[in-house]
Amino acid sequence: IIKSNNKIYYKSKFPDIIIPEESAPKVILNHLRSRENHCVFVDGISTREYGSHYIADTIEKVASGFHKLGLRKKDIVGFILPNLPEYSTLFHGTLLIGGVASLVNPEYTIHEYEHTLGTVKPKFIVTFPTVYDKIKDDIKRVFPLVEKVILCGVPYNNVEAIHKAEKENPNLVMSYDSLINNDGKYPNIPIDSKKDMAVIPFSSGTTGLFKGVCLSHYNILSNTYQTQVIETSNYRKNDTVMGILPFFHIYGLMLFLMLMLKQGYRVVTLPKFEPIRFLQLIEKYSVSISFIVPPVALLFAKSPLVDKFDLSALRVLFSGAAPLSENIEAEIKQRFKDKVIIKQGYGLSEISPACCVAPYGDNKSGSVGVLLPNQIAKIIDTMTGETLNAGAKGEICIKGPNVMLGYFDNPKATAEVIDNEGFLRTGDIGYVDDDGFFYVVDRQKELIKVKGFQVAPAELEALLLTHPKIQDACVVGLPRGEVGEVPRGFVVLKPGQAATEKEILDWAHPKIANYKHFRGGLFFLQAVPKSATGKLLRKELKNFTPPKL
Ligand code: AMP
Repeated sequence: IIKSNNKIYYKSKFPDIIIPEESAPKVILNHLRSRENHCVFVDGISTREYGSHYIADTIEKVASGFHKLGLRKKDIVGFILPNLPEYSTLFHGTLLIGGVASLVNPEYTIHEYEHTLGTVKPKFIVTFPTVYDKIKDDIKRVFPLVEKVILCGVPYNNVEAIHKAEKENPNLVMSYDSLINNDGKYPNIPIDSKKDMAVIPFSSGTTGLFKGVCLSHYNILSNTYQTQVIETSNYRKNDTVMGILPFFHIYGLMLFLMLMLKQGYRVVTLPKFEPIRFLQLIEKYSVSISFIVPPVALLFAKSPLVDKFDLSALRVLFSGAAPLSENIEAEIKQRFKDKVIIKQGYGLSEISPACCVAPYGDNKSGSVGVLLPNQIAKIIDTMTGETLNAGAKGEICIKGPNVMLGYFDNPKATAEVIDNEGFLRTGDIGYVDDDGFFYVVDRQKELIKVKGFQVAPAELEALLLTHPKIQDACVVGLPRGEVGEVPRGFVVLKPGQAATEKEILDWAHPKIANYKHFRGGLFFLQAVPKSATGKLLRKELKNFTPPKL
């Protein structure tokens, strides 16, 4: 605890560390090359293995290929890819020549790409044939500046689909193999680590629609080094880590494209979470560490499938992205007879993403851990802004080298979340105990989280409002165990209109990714509650279930 000017701050127990002010991919390349060649990725589907030197060489070939295509500093490359080892070469190759990687969920619909990736205007897109077929007719409308679409098929043998797309549209489409078919030479582009953007994931922040979260090279390097201090302290040289968290989400990106590559652990990738395949891979590759989200923790706690596989190599399960219940933690400990450590981390896209990680050894159940090095926090009273003592609940605010540069092209939204002391307001309610352990107890911001994925109520409301019969709409999150929440919609029909829940949902669902579907149902109201200034009072509808018409 630090007290200054009558304010209370919490500082990490760990000594500050020095973070290199460098280009992120250069740091990764140096680490990949400083060790002897060894396997850093296994593709869980094809079983193809990727050596560290191959990854390093291919990163440079991607940089060379992109440079030849005309990618210049600050140009944006849109990533619409599942977890593949090639994600790492495309990502670091882009950054190496000053490009910026903007990442979205490959399960999005064209409507969702338009409102996320479309807003940052990418010059290149990297994707794979299934998504290309889904978006090809809309590419020029949704991404007006796009010059080339790189199609990555490896290792799924859909070479034919790539050749077909290349033939149909030779000016626009290029294969990943053609991109990397070069001498690996590229110009040295100076990077200002603290100022130059590296990655733009998307988050709705504390309110409103999705916004690009601008993270610098220094931001992502910082969080890699900060997390390393606590998290990899108990890893062993030959550990194998399961890479199921999406690489397009900053949680997966920082861990698998930064930290694990830097430290040289073997990562098994899986493009889509399938319980049986996931457990098979843990057995086959003697996976010792897996990062998970709460629904996967539920599988480990309760599913009979778990007993069908030899998971004896498993040592650590690390859950993040959403709250994990203490009961599930206890059930996992009991089921694995304390041979598996289950622990949590907490963070958000805007802080690249982790601020708290549970330490090994003296971990407390139910806690999201302690502050990482170089991290300062304050807990503020949401009404008065006053800083609070240990034990008191308030909004968690975080300051440190991992706090984002700001939202893309949106200084107003940035100013709303970064205060005049440089703290990021998380929109989460929590407290710190006397030993410096953090607990997240509620979410003040309107964000809904389904299985760890962000769902912005404002996005679903905006969609509902485009329906010709709907006059007003409000969306809230309904708690649903380890799934987190599910969206529930409330609509007011225009005068004289009649509609059924099914009719509206059949219209809405094809426009949104599956996890955003209204699994909490859709209800009809005479009016949605609003404040005197017209602000939606979503909280009032959270516990209110009107009869269906
Ligand atoms: P995202 O930006 O998608 O990573 O979402 C960040 C939000 O997820 C946070 O602001 C929290 O509301 C929630 N979150 C992340 N980790 C945890 C955790 N361990 N416990 C509770 N909520 C979490």
